[in-house]
Amino acid sequence: MPQKSRALVMEEPGELEVKNLEVPETGAKDILVKVELSGICGSDVHMYDGGMDLDFPVLPGHEFSGVIEDLGDDVDTDAKGEPVSEGDKVTVVPGIVCGECWYCNNVPTRPTTCKNRDVYGFLGTDYRQGVHGGFSEYMIADGRSSFYKLPDEMDIELGALAEPLSVATRAFERAYSPGIPDAREGIGIGKSIAVQGAGPVGLLAMSAAEAAGAGQIIAVDAIEERLSLAQEFGATHTVDLTQYDGDDDLIQAVKELTPGNVGPDAAIEAAGIPVAFSQGIELPRDGGTLVEVGHYAYSGEAEVNPTRVVQKDIDIRGSLAYPPNQFETSLSLLDQLKDDVPFDTLFNHKAGFDDAESAYEAQKSGEAYRATIHPFGV
Ligand SMILES: [Zn+2]
Ligand SMILES: [Zn+2]
Repeated sequence: MPQKSRALVMEEPGELEVKNLEVPETGAKDILVKVELSGICGSDVHMYDGGMDLDFPVLPGHEFSGVIEDLGDDVDTDAKGEPVSEGDKVTVVPGIVCGECWYCNNVPTRPTTCKNRDVYGFLGTDYRQGVHGGFSEYMIADGRSSFYKLPDEMDIELGALAEPLSVATRAFERAYSPGIPDAREGIGIGKSIAVQGAGPVGLLAMSAAEAAGAGQIIAVDAIEERLSLAQEFGATHTVDLTQYDGDDDLIQAVKELTPGNVGPDAAIEAAGIPVAFSQGIELPRDGGTLVEVGHYAYSGEAEVNPTRVVQKDIDIRGSLAYPPNQFETSLSLLDQLKDDVPFDTLFNHKAGFDDAESAYEAQKSGEAYRATIHPFGV
């Protein structure tokens, strides 16, 4: 059992410091995870830039995988029911609900509505035992949180994609509902979907769409390299938005790719740029669906014409994170696709604690798809 855990603590927004934290005894329902790597998310960049009102100092890192270093006496299985023991590769669902608020009692199928939700990676270092974020050699997943064992033959690094893939698969499943494809509700087998933004969440949503049997997957982005990677993640068509003068031309170009030139059955906005939301209302065919997942962090206001929302009879759905068992979906999908989709190319900027700033900068500039922090070095 390690006594100490070196951790990258954000003292204040933009101010990172390596601290040596005390590792407490593993509680009966807890697991102690030795962290292999932890991704830097758009929300981490937002935190770094001072856009989040948190209880600093914070221990960041919510997209991580590692191995079980120690487990409490009462822990026999992961959240799926798989037996676990020391040395198993795992990934941890960062969000923990309170189980007591109105939403937990009345809308338990949507746990991200919990009003007292704690999320590893956004908590102050005085929270519970203090050792709880992914930018740390060790982290404790306490008994209230869910964790999942990785399939035996899965590379441990891919486990750090379970979190962003859960954001992506849930967003995709929001487009799937209400679920009568032959009534042309949402997306179904053989149907058409556009994904705005070929960053990690957009790319992963494309893979989900392909695995679910979408007939046409249109990737929309401004960066050529991302669009060519999109084809490896399942896109059947790509649209480079820099080639079009205005919104109307872009929307027209997407529509012309679809059967009947009416537009895709669904669009997923994963770019996180306000104008993409406005375009996203126009992209799907009438009676289609728009899922908004890109604007997790505030990045400005979008123009909306409510008359178009009515005229198009469009379904607009928000997608905030995911319920814990979305990780089961994501790990299964990673396992199915790992030999066909180059998931590891997303990890194109790896850093230890010493050059963490460069990793944040690479994530911020878009140079990295998913910059990663490796507590024990790259
Ligand atoms: Zn994230
Ligand atoms: Zn609650």
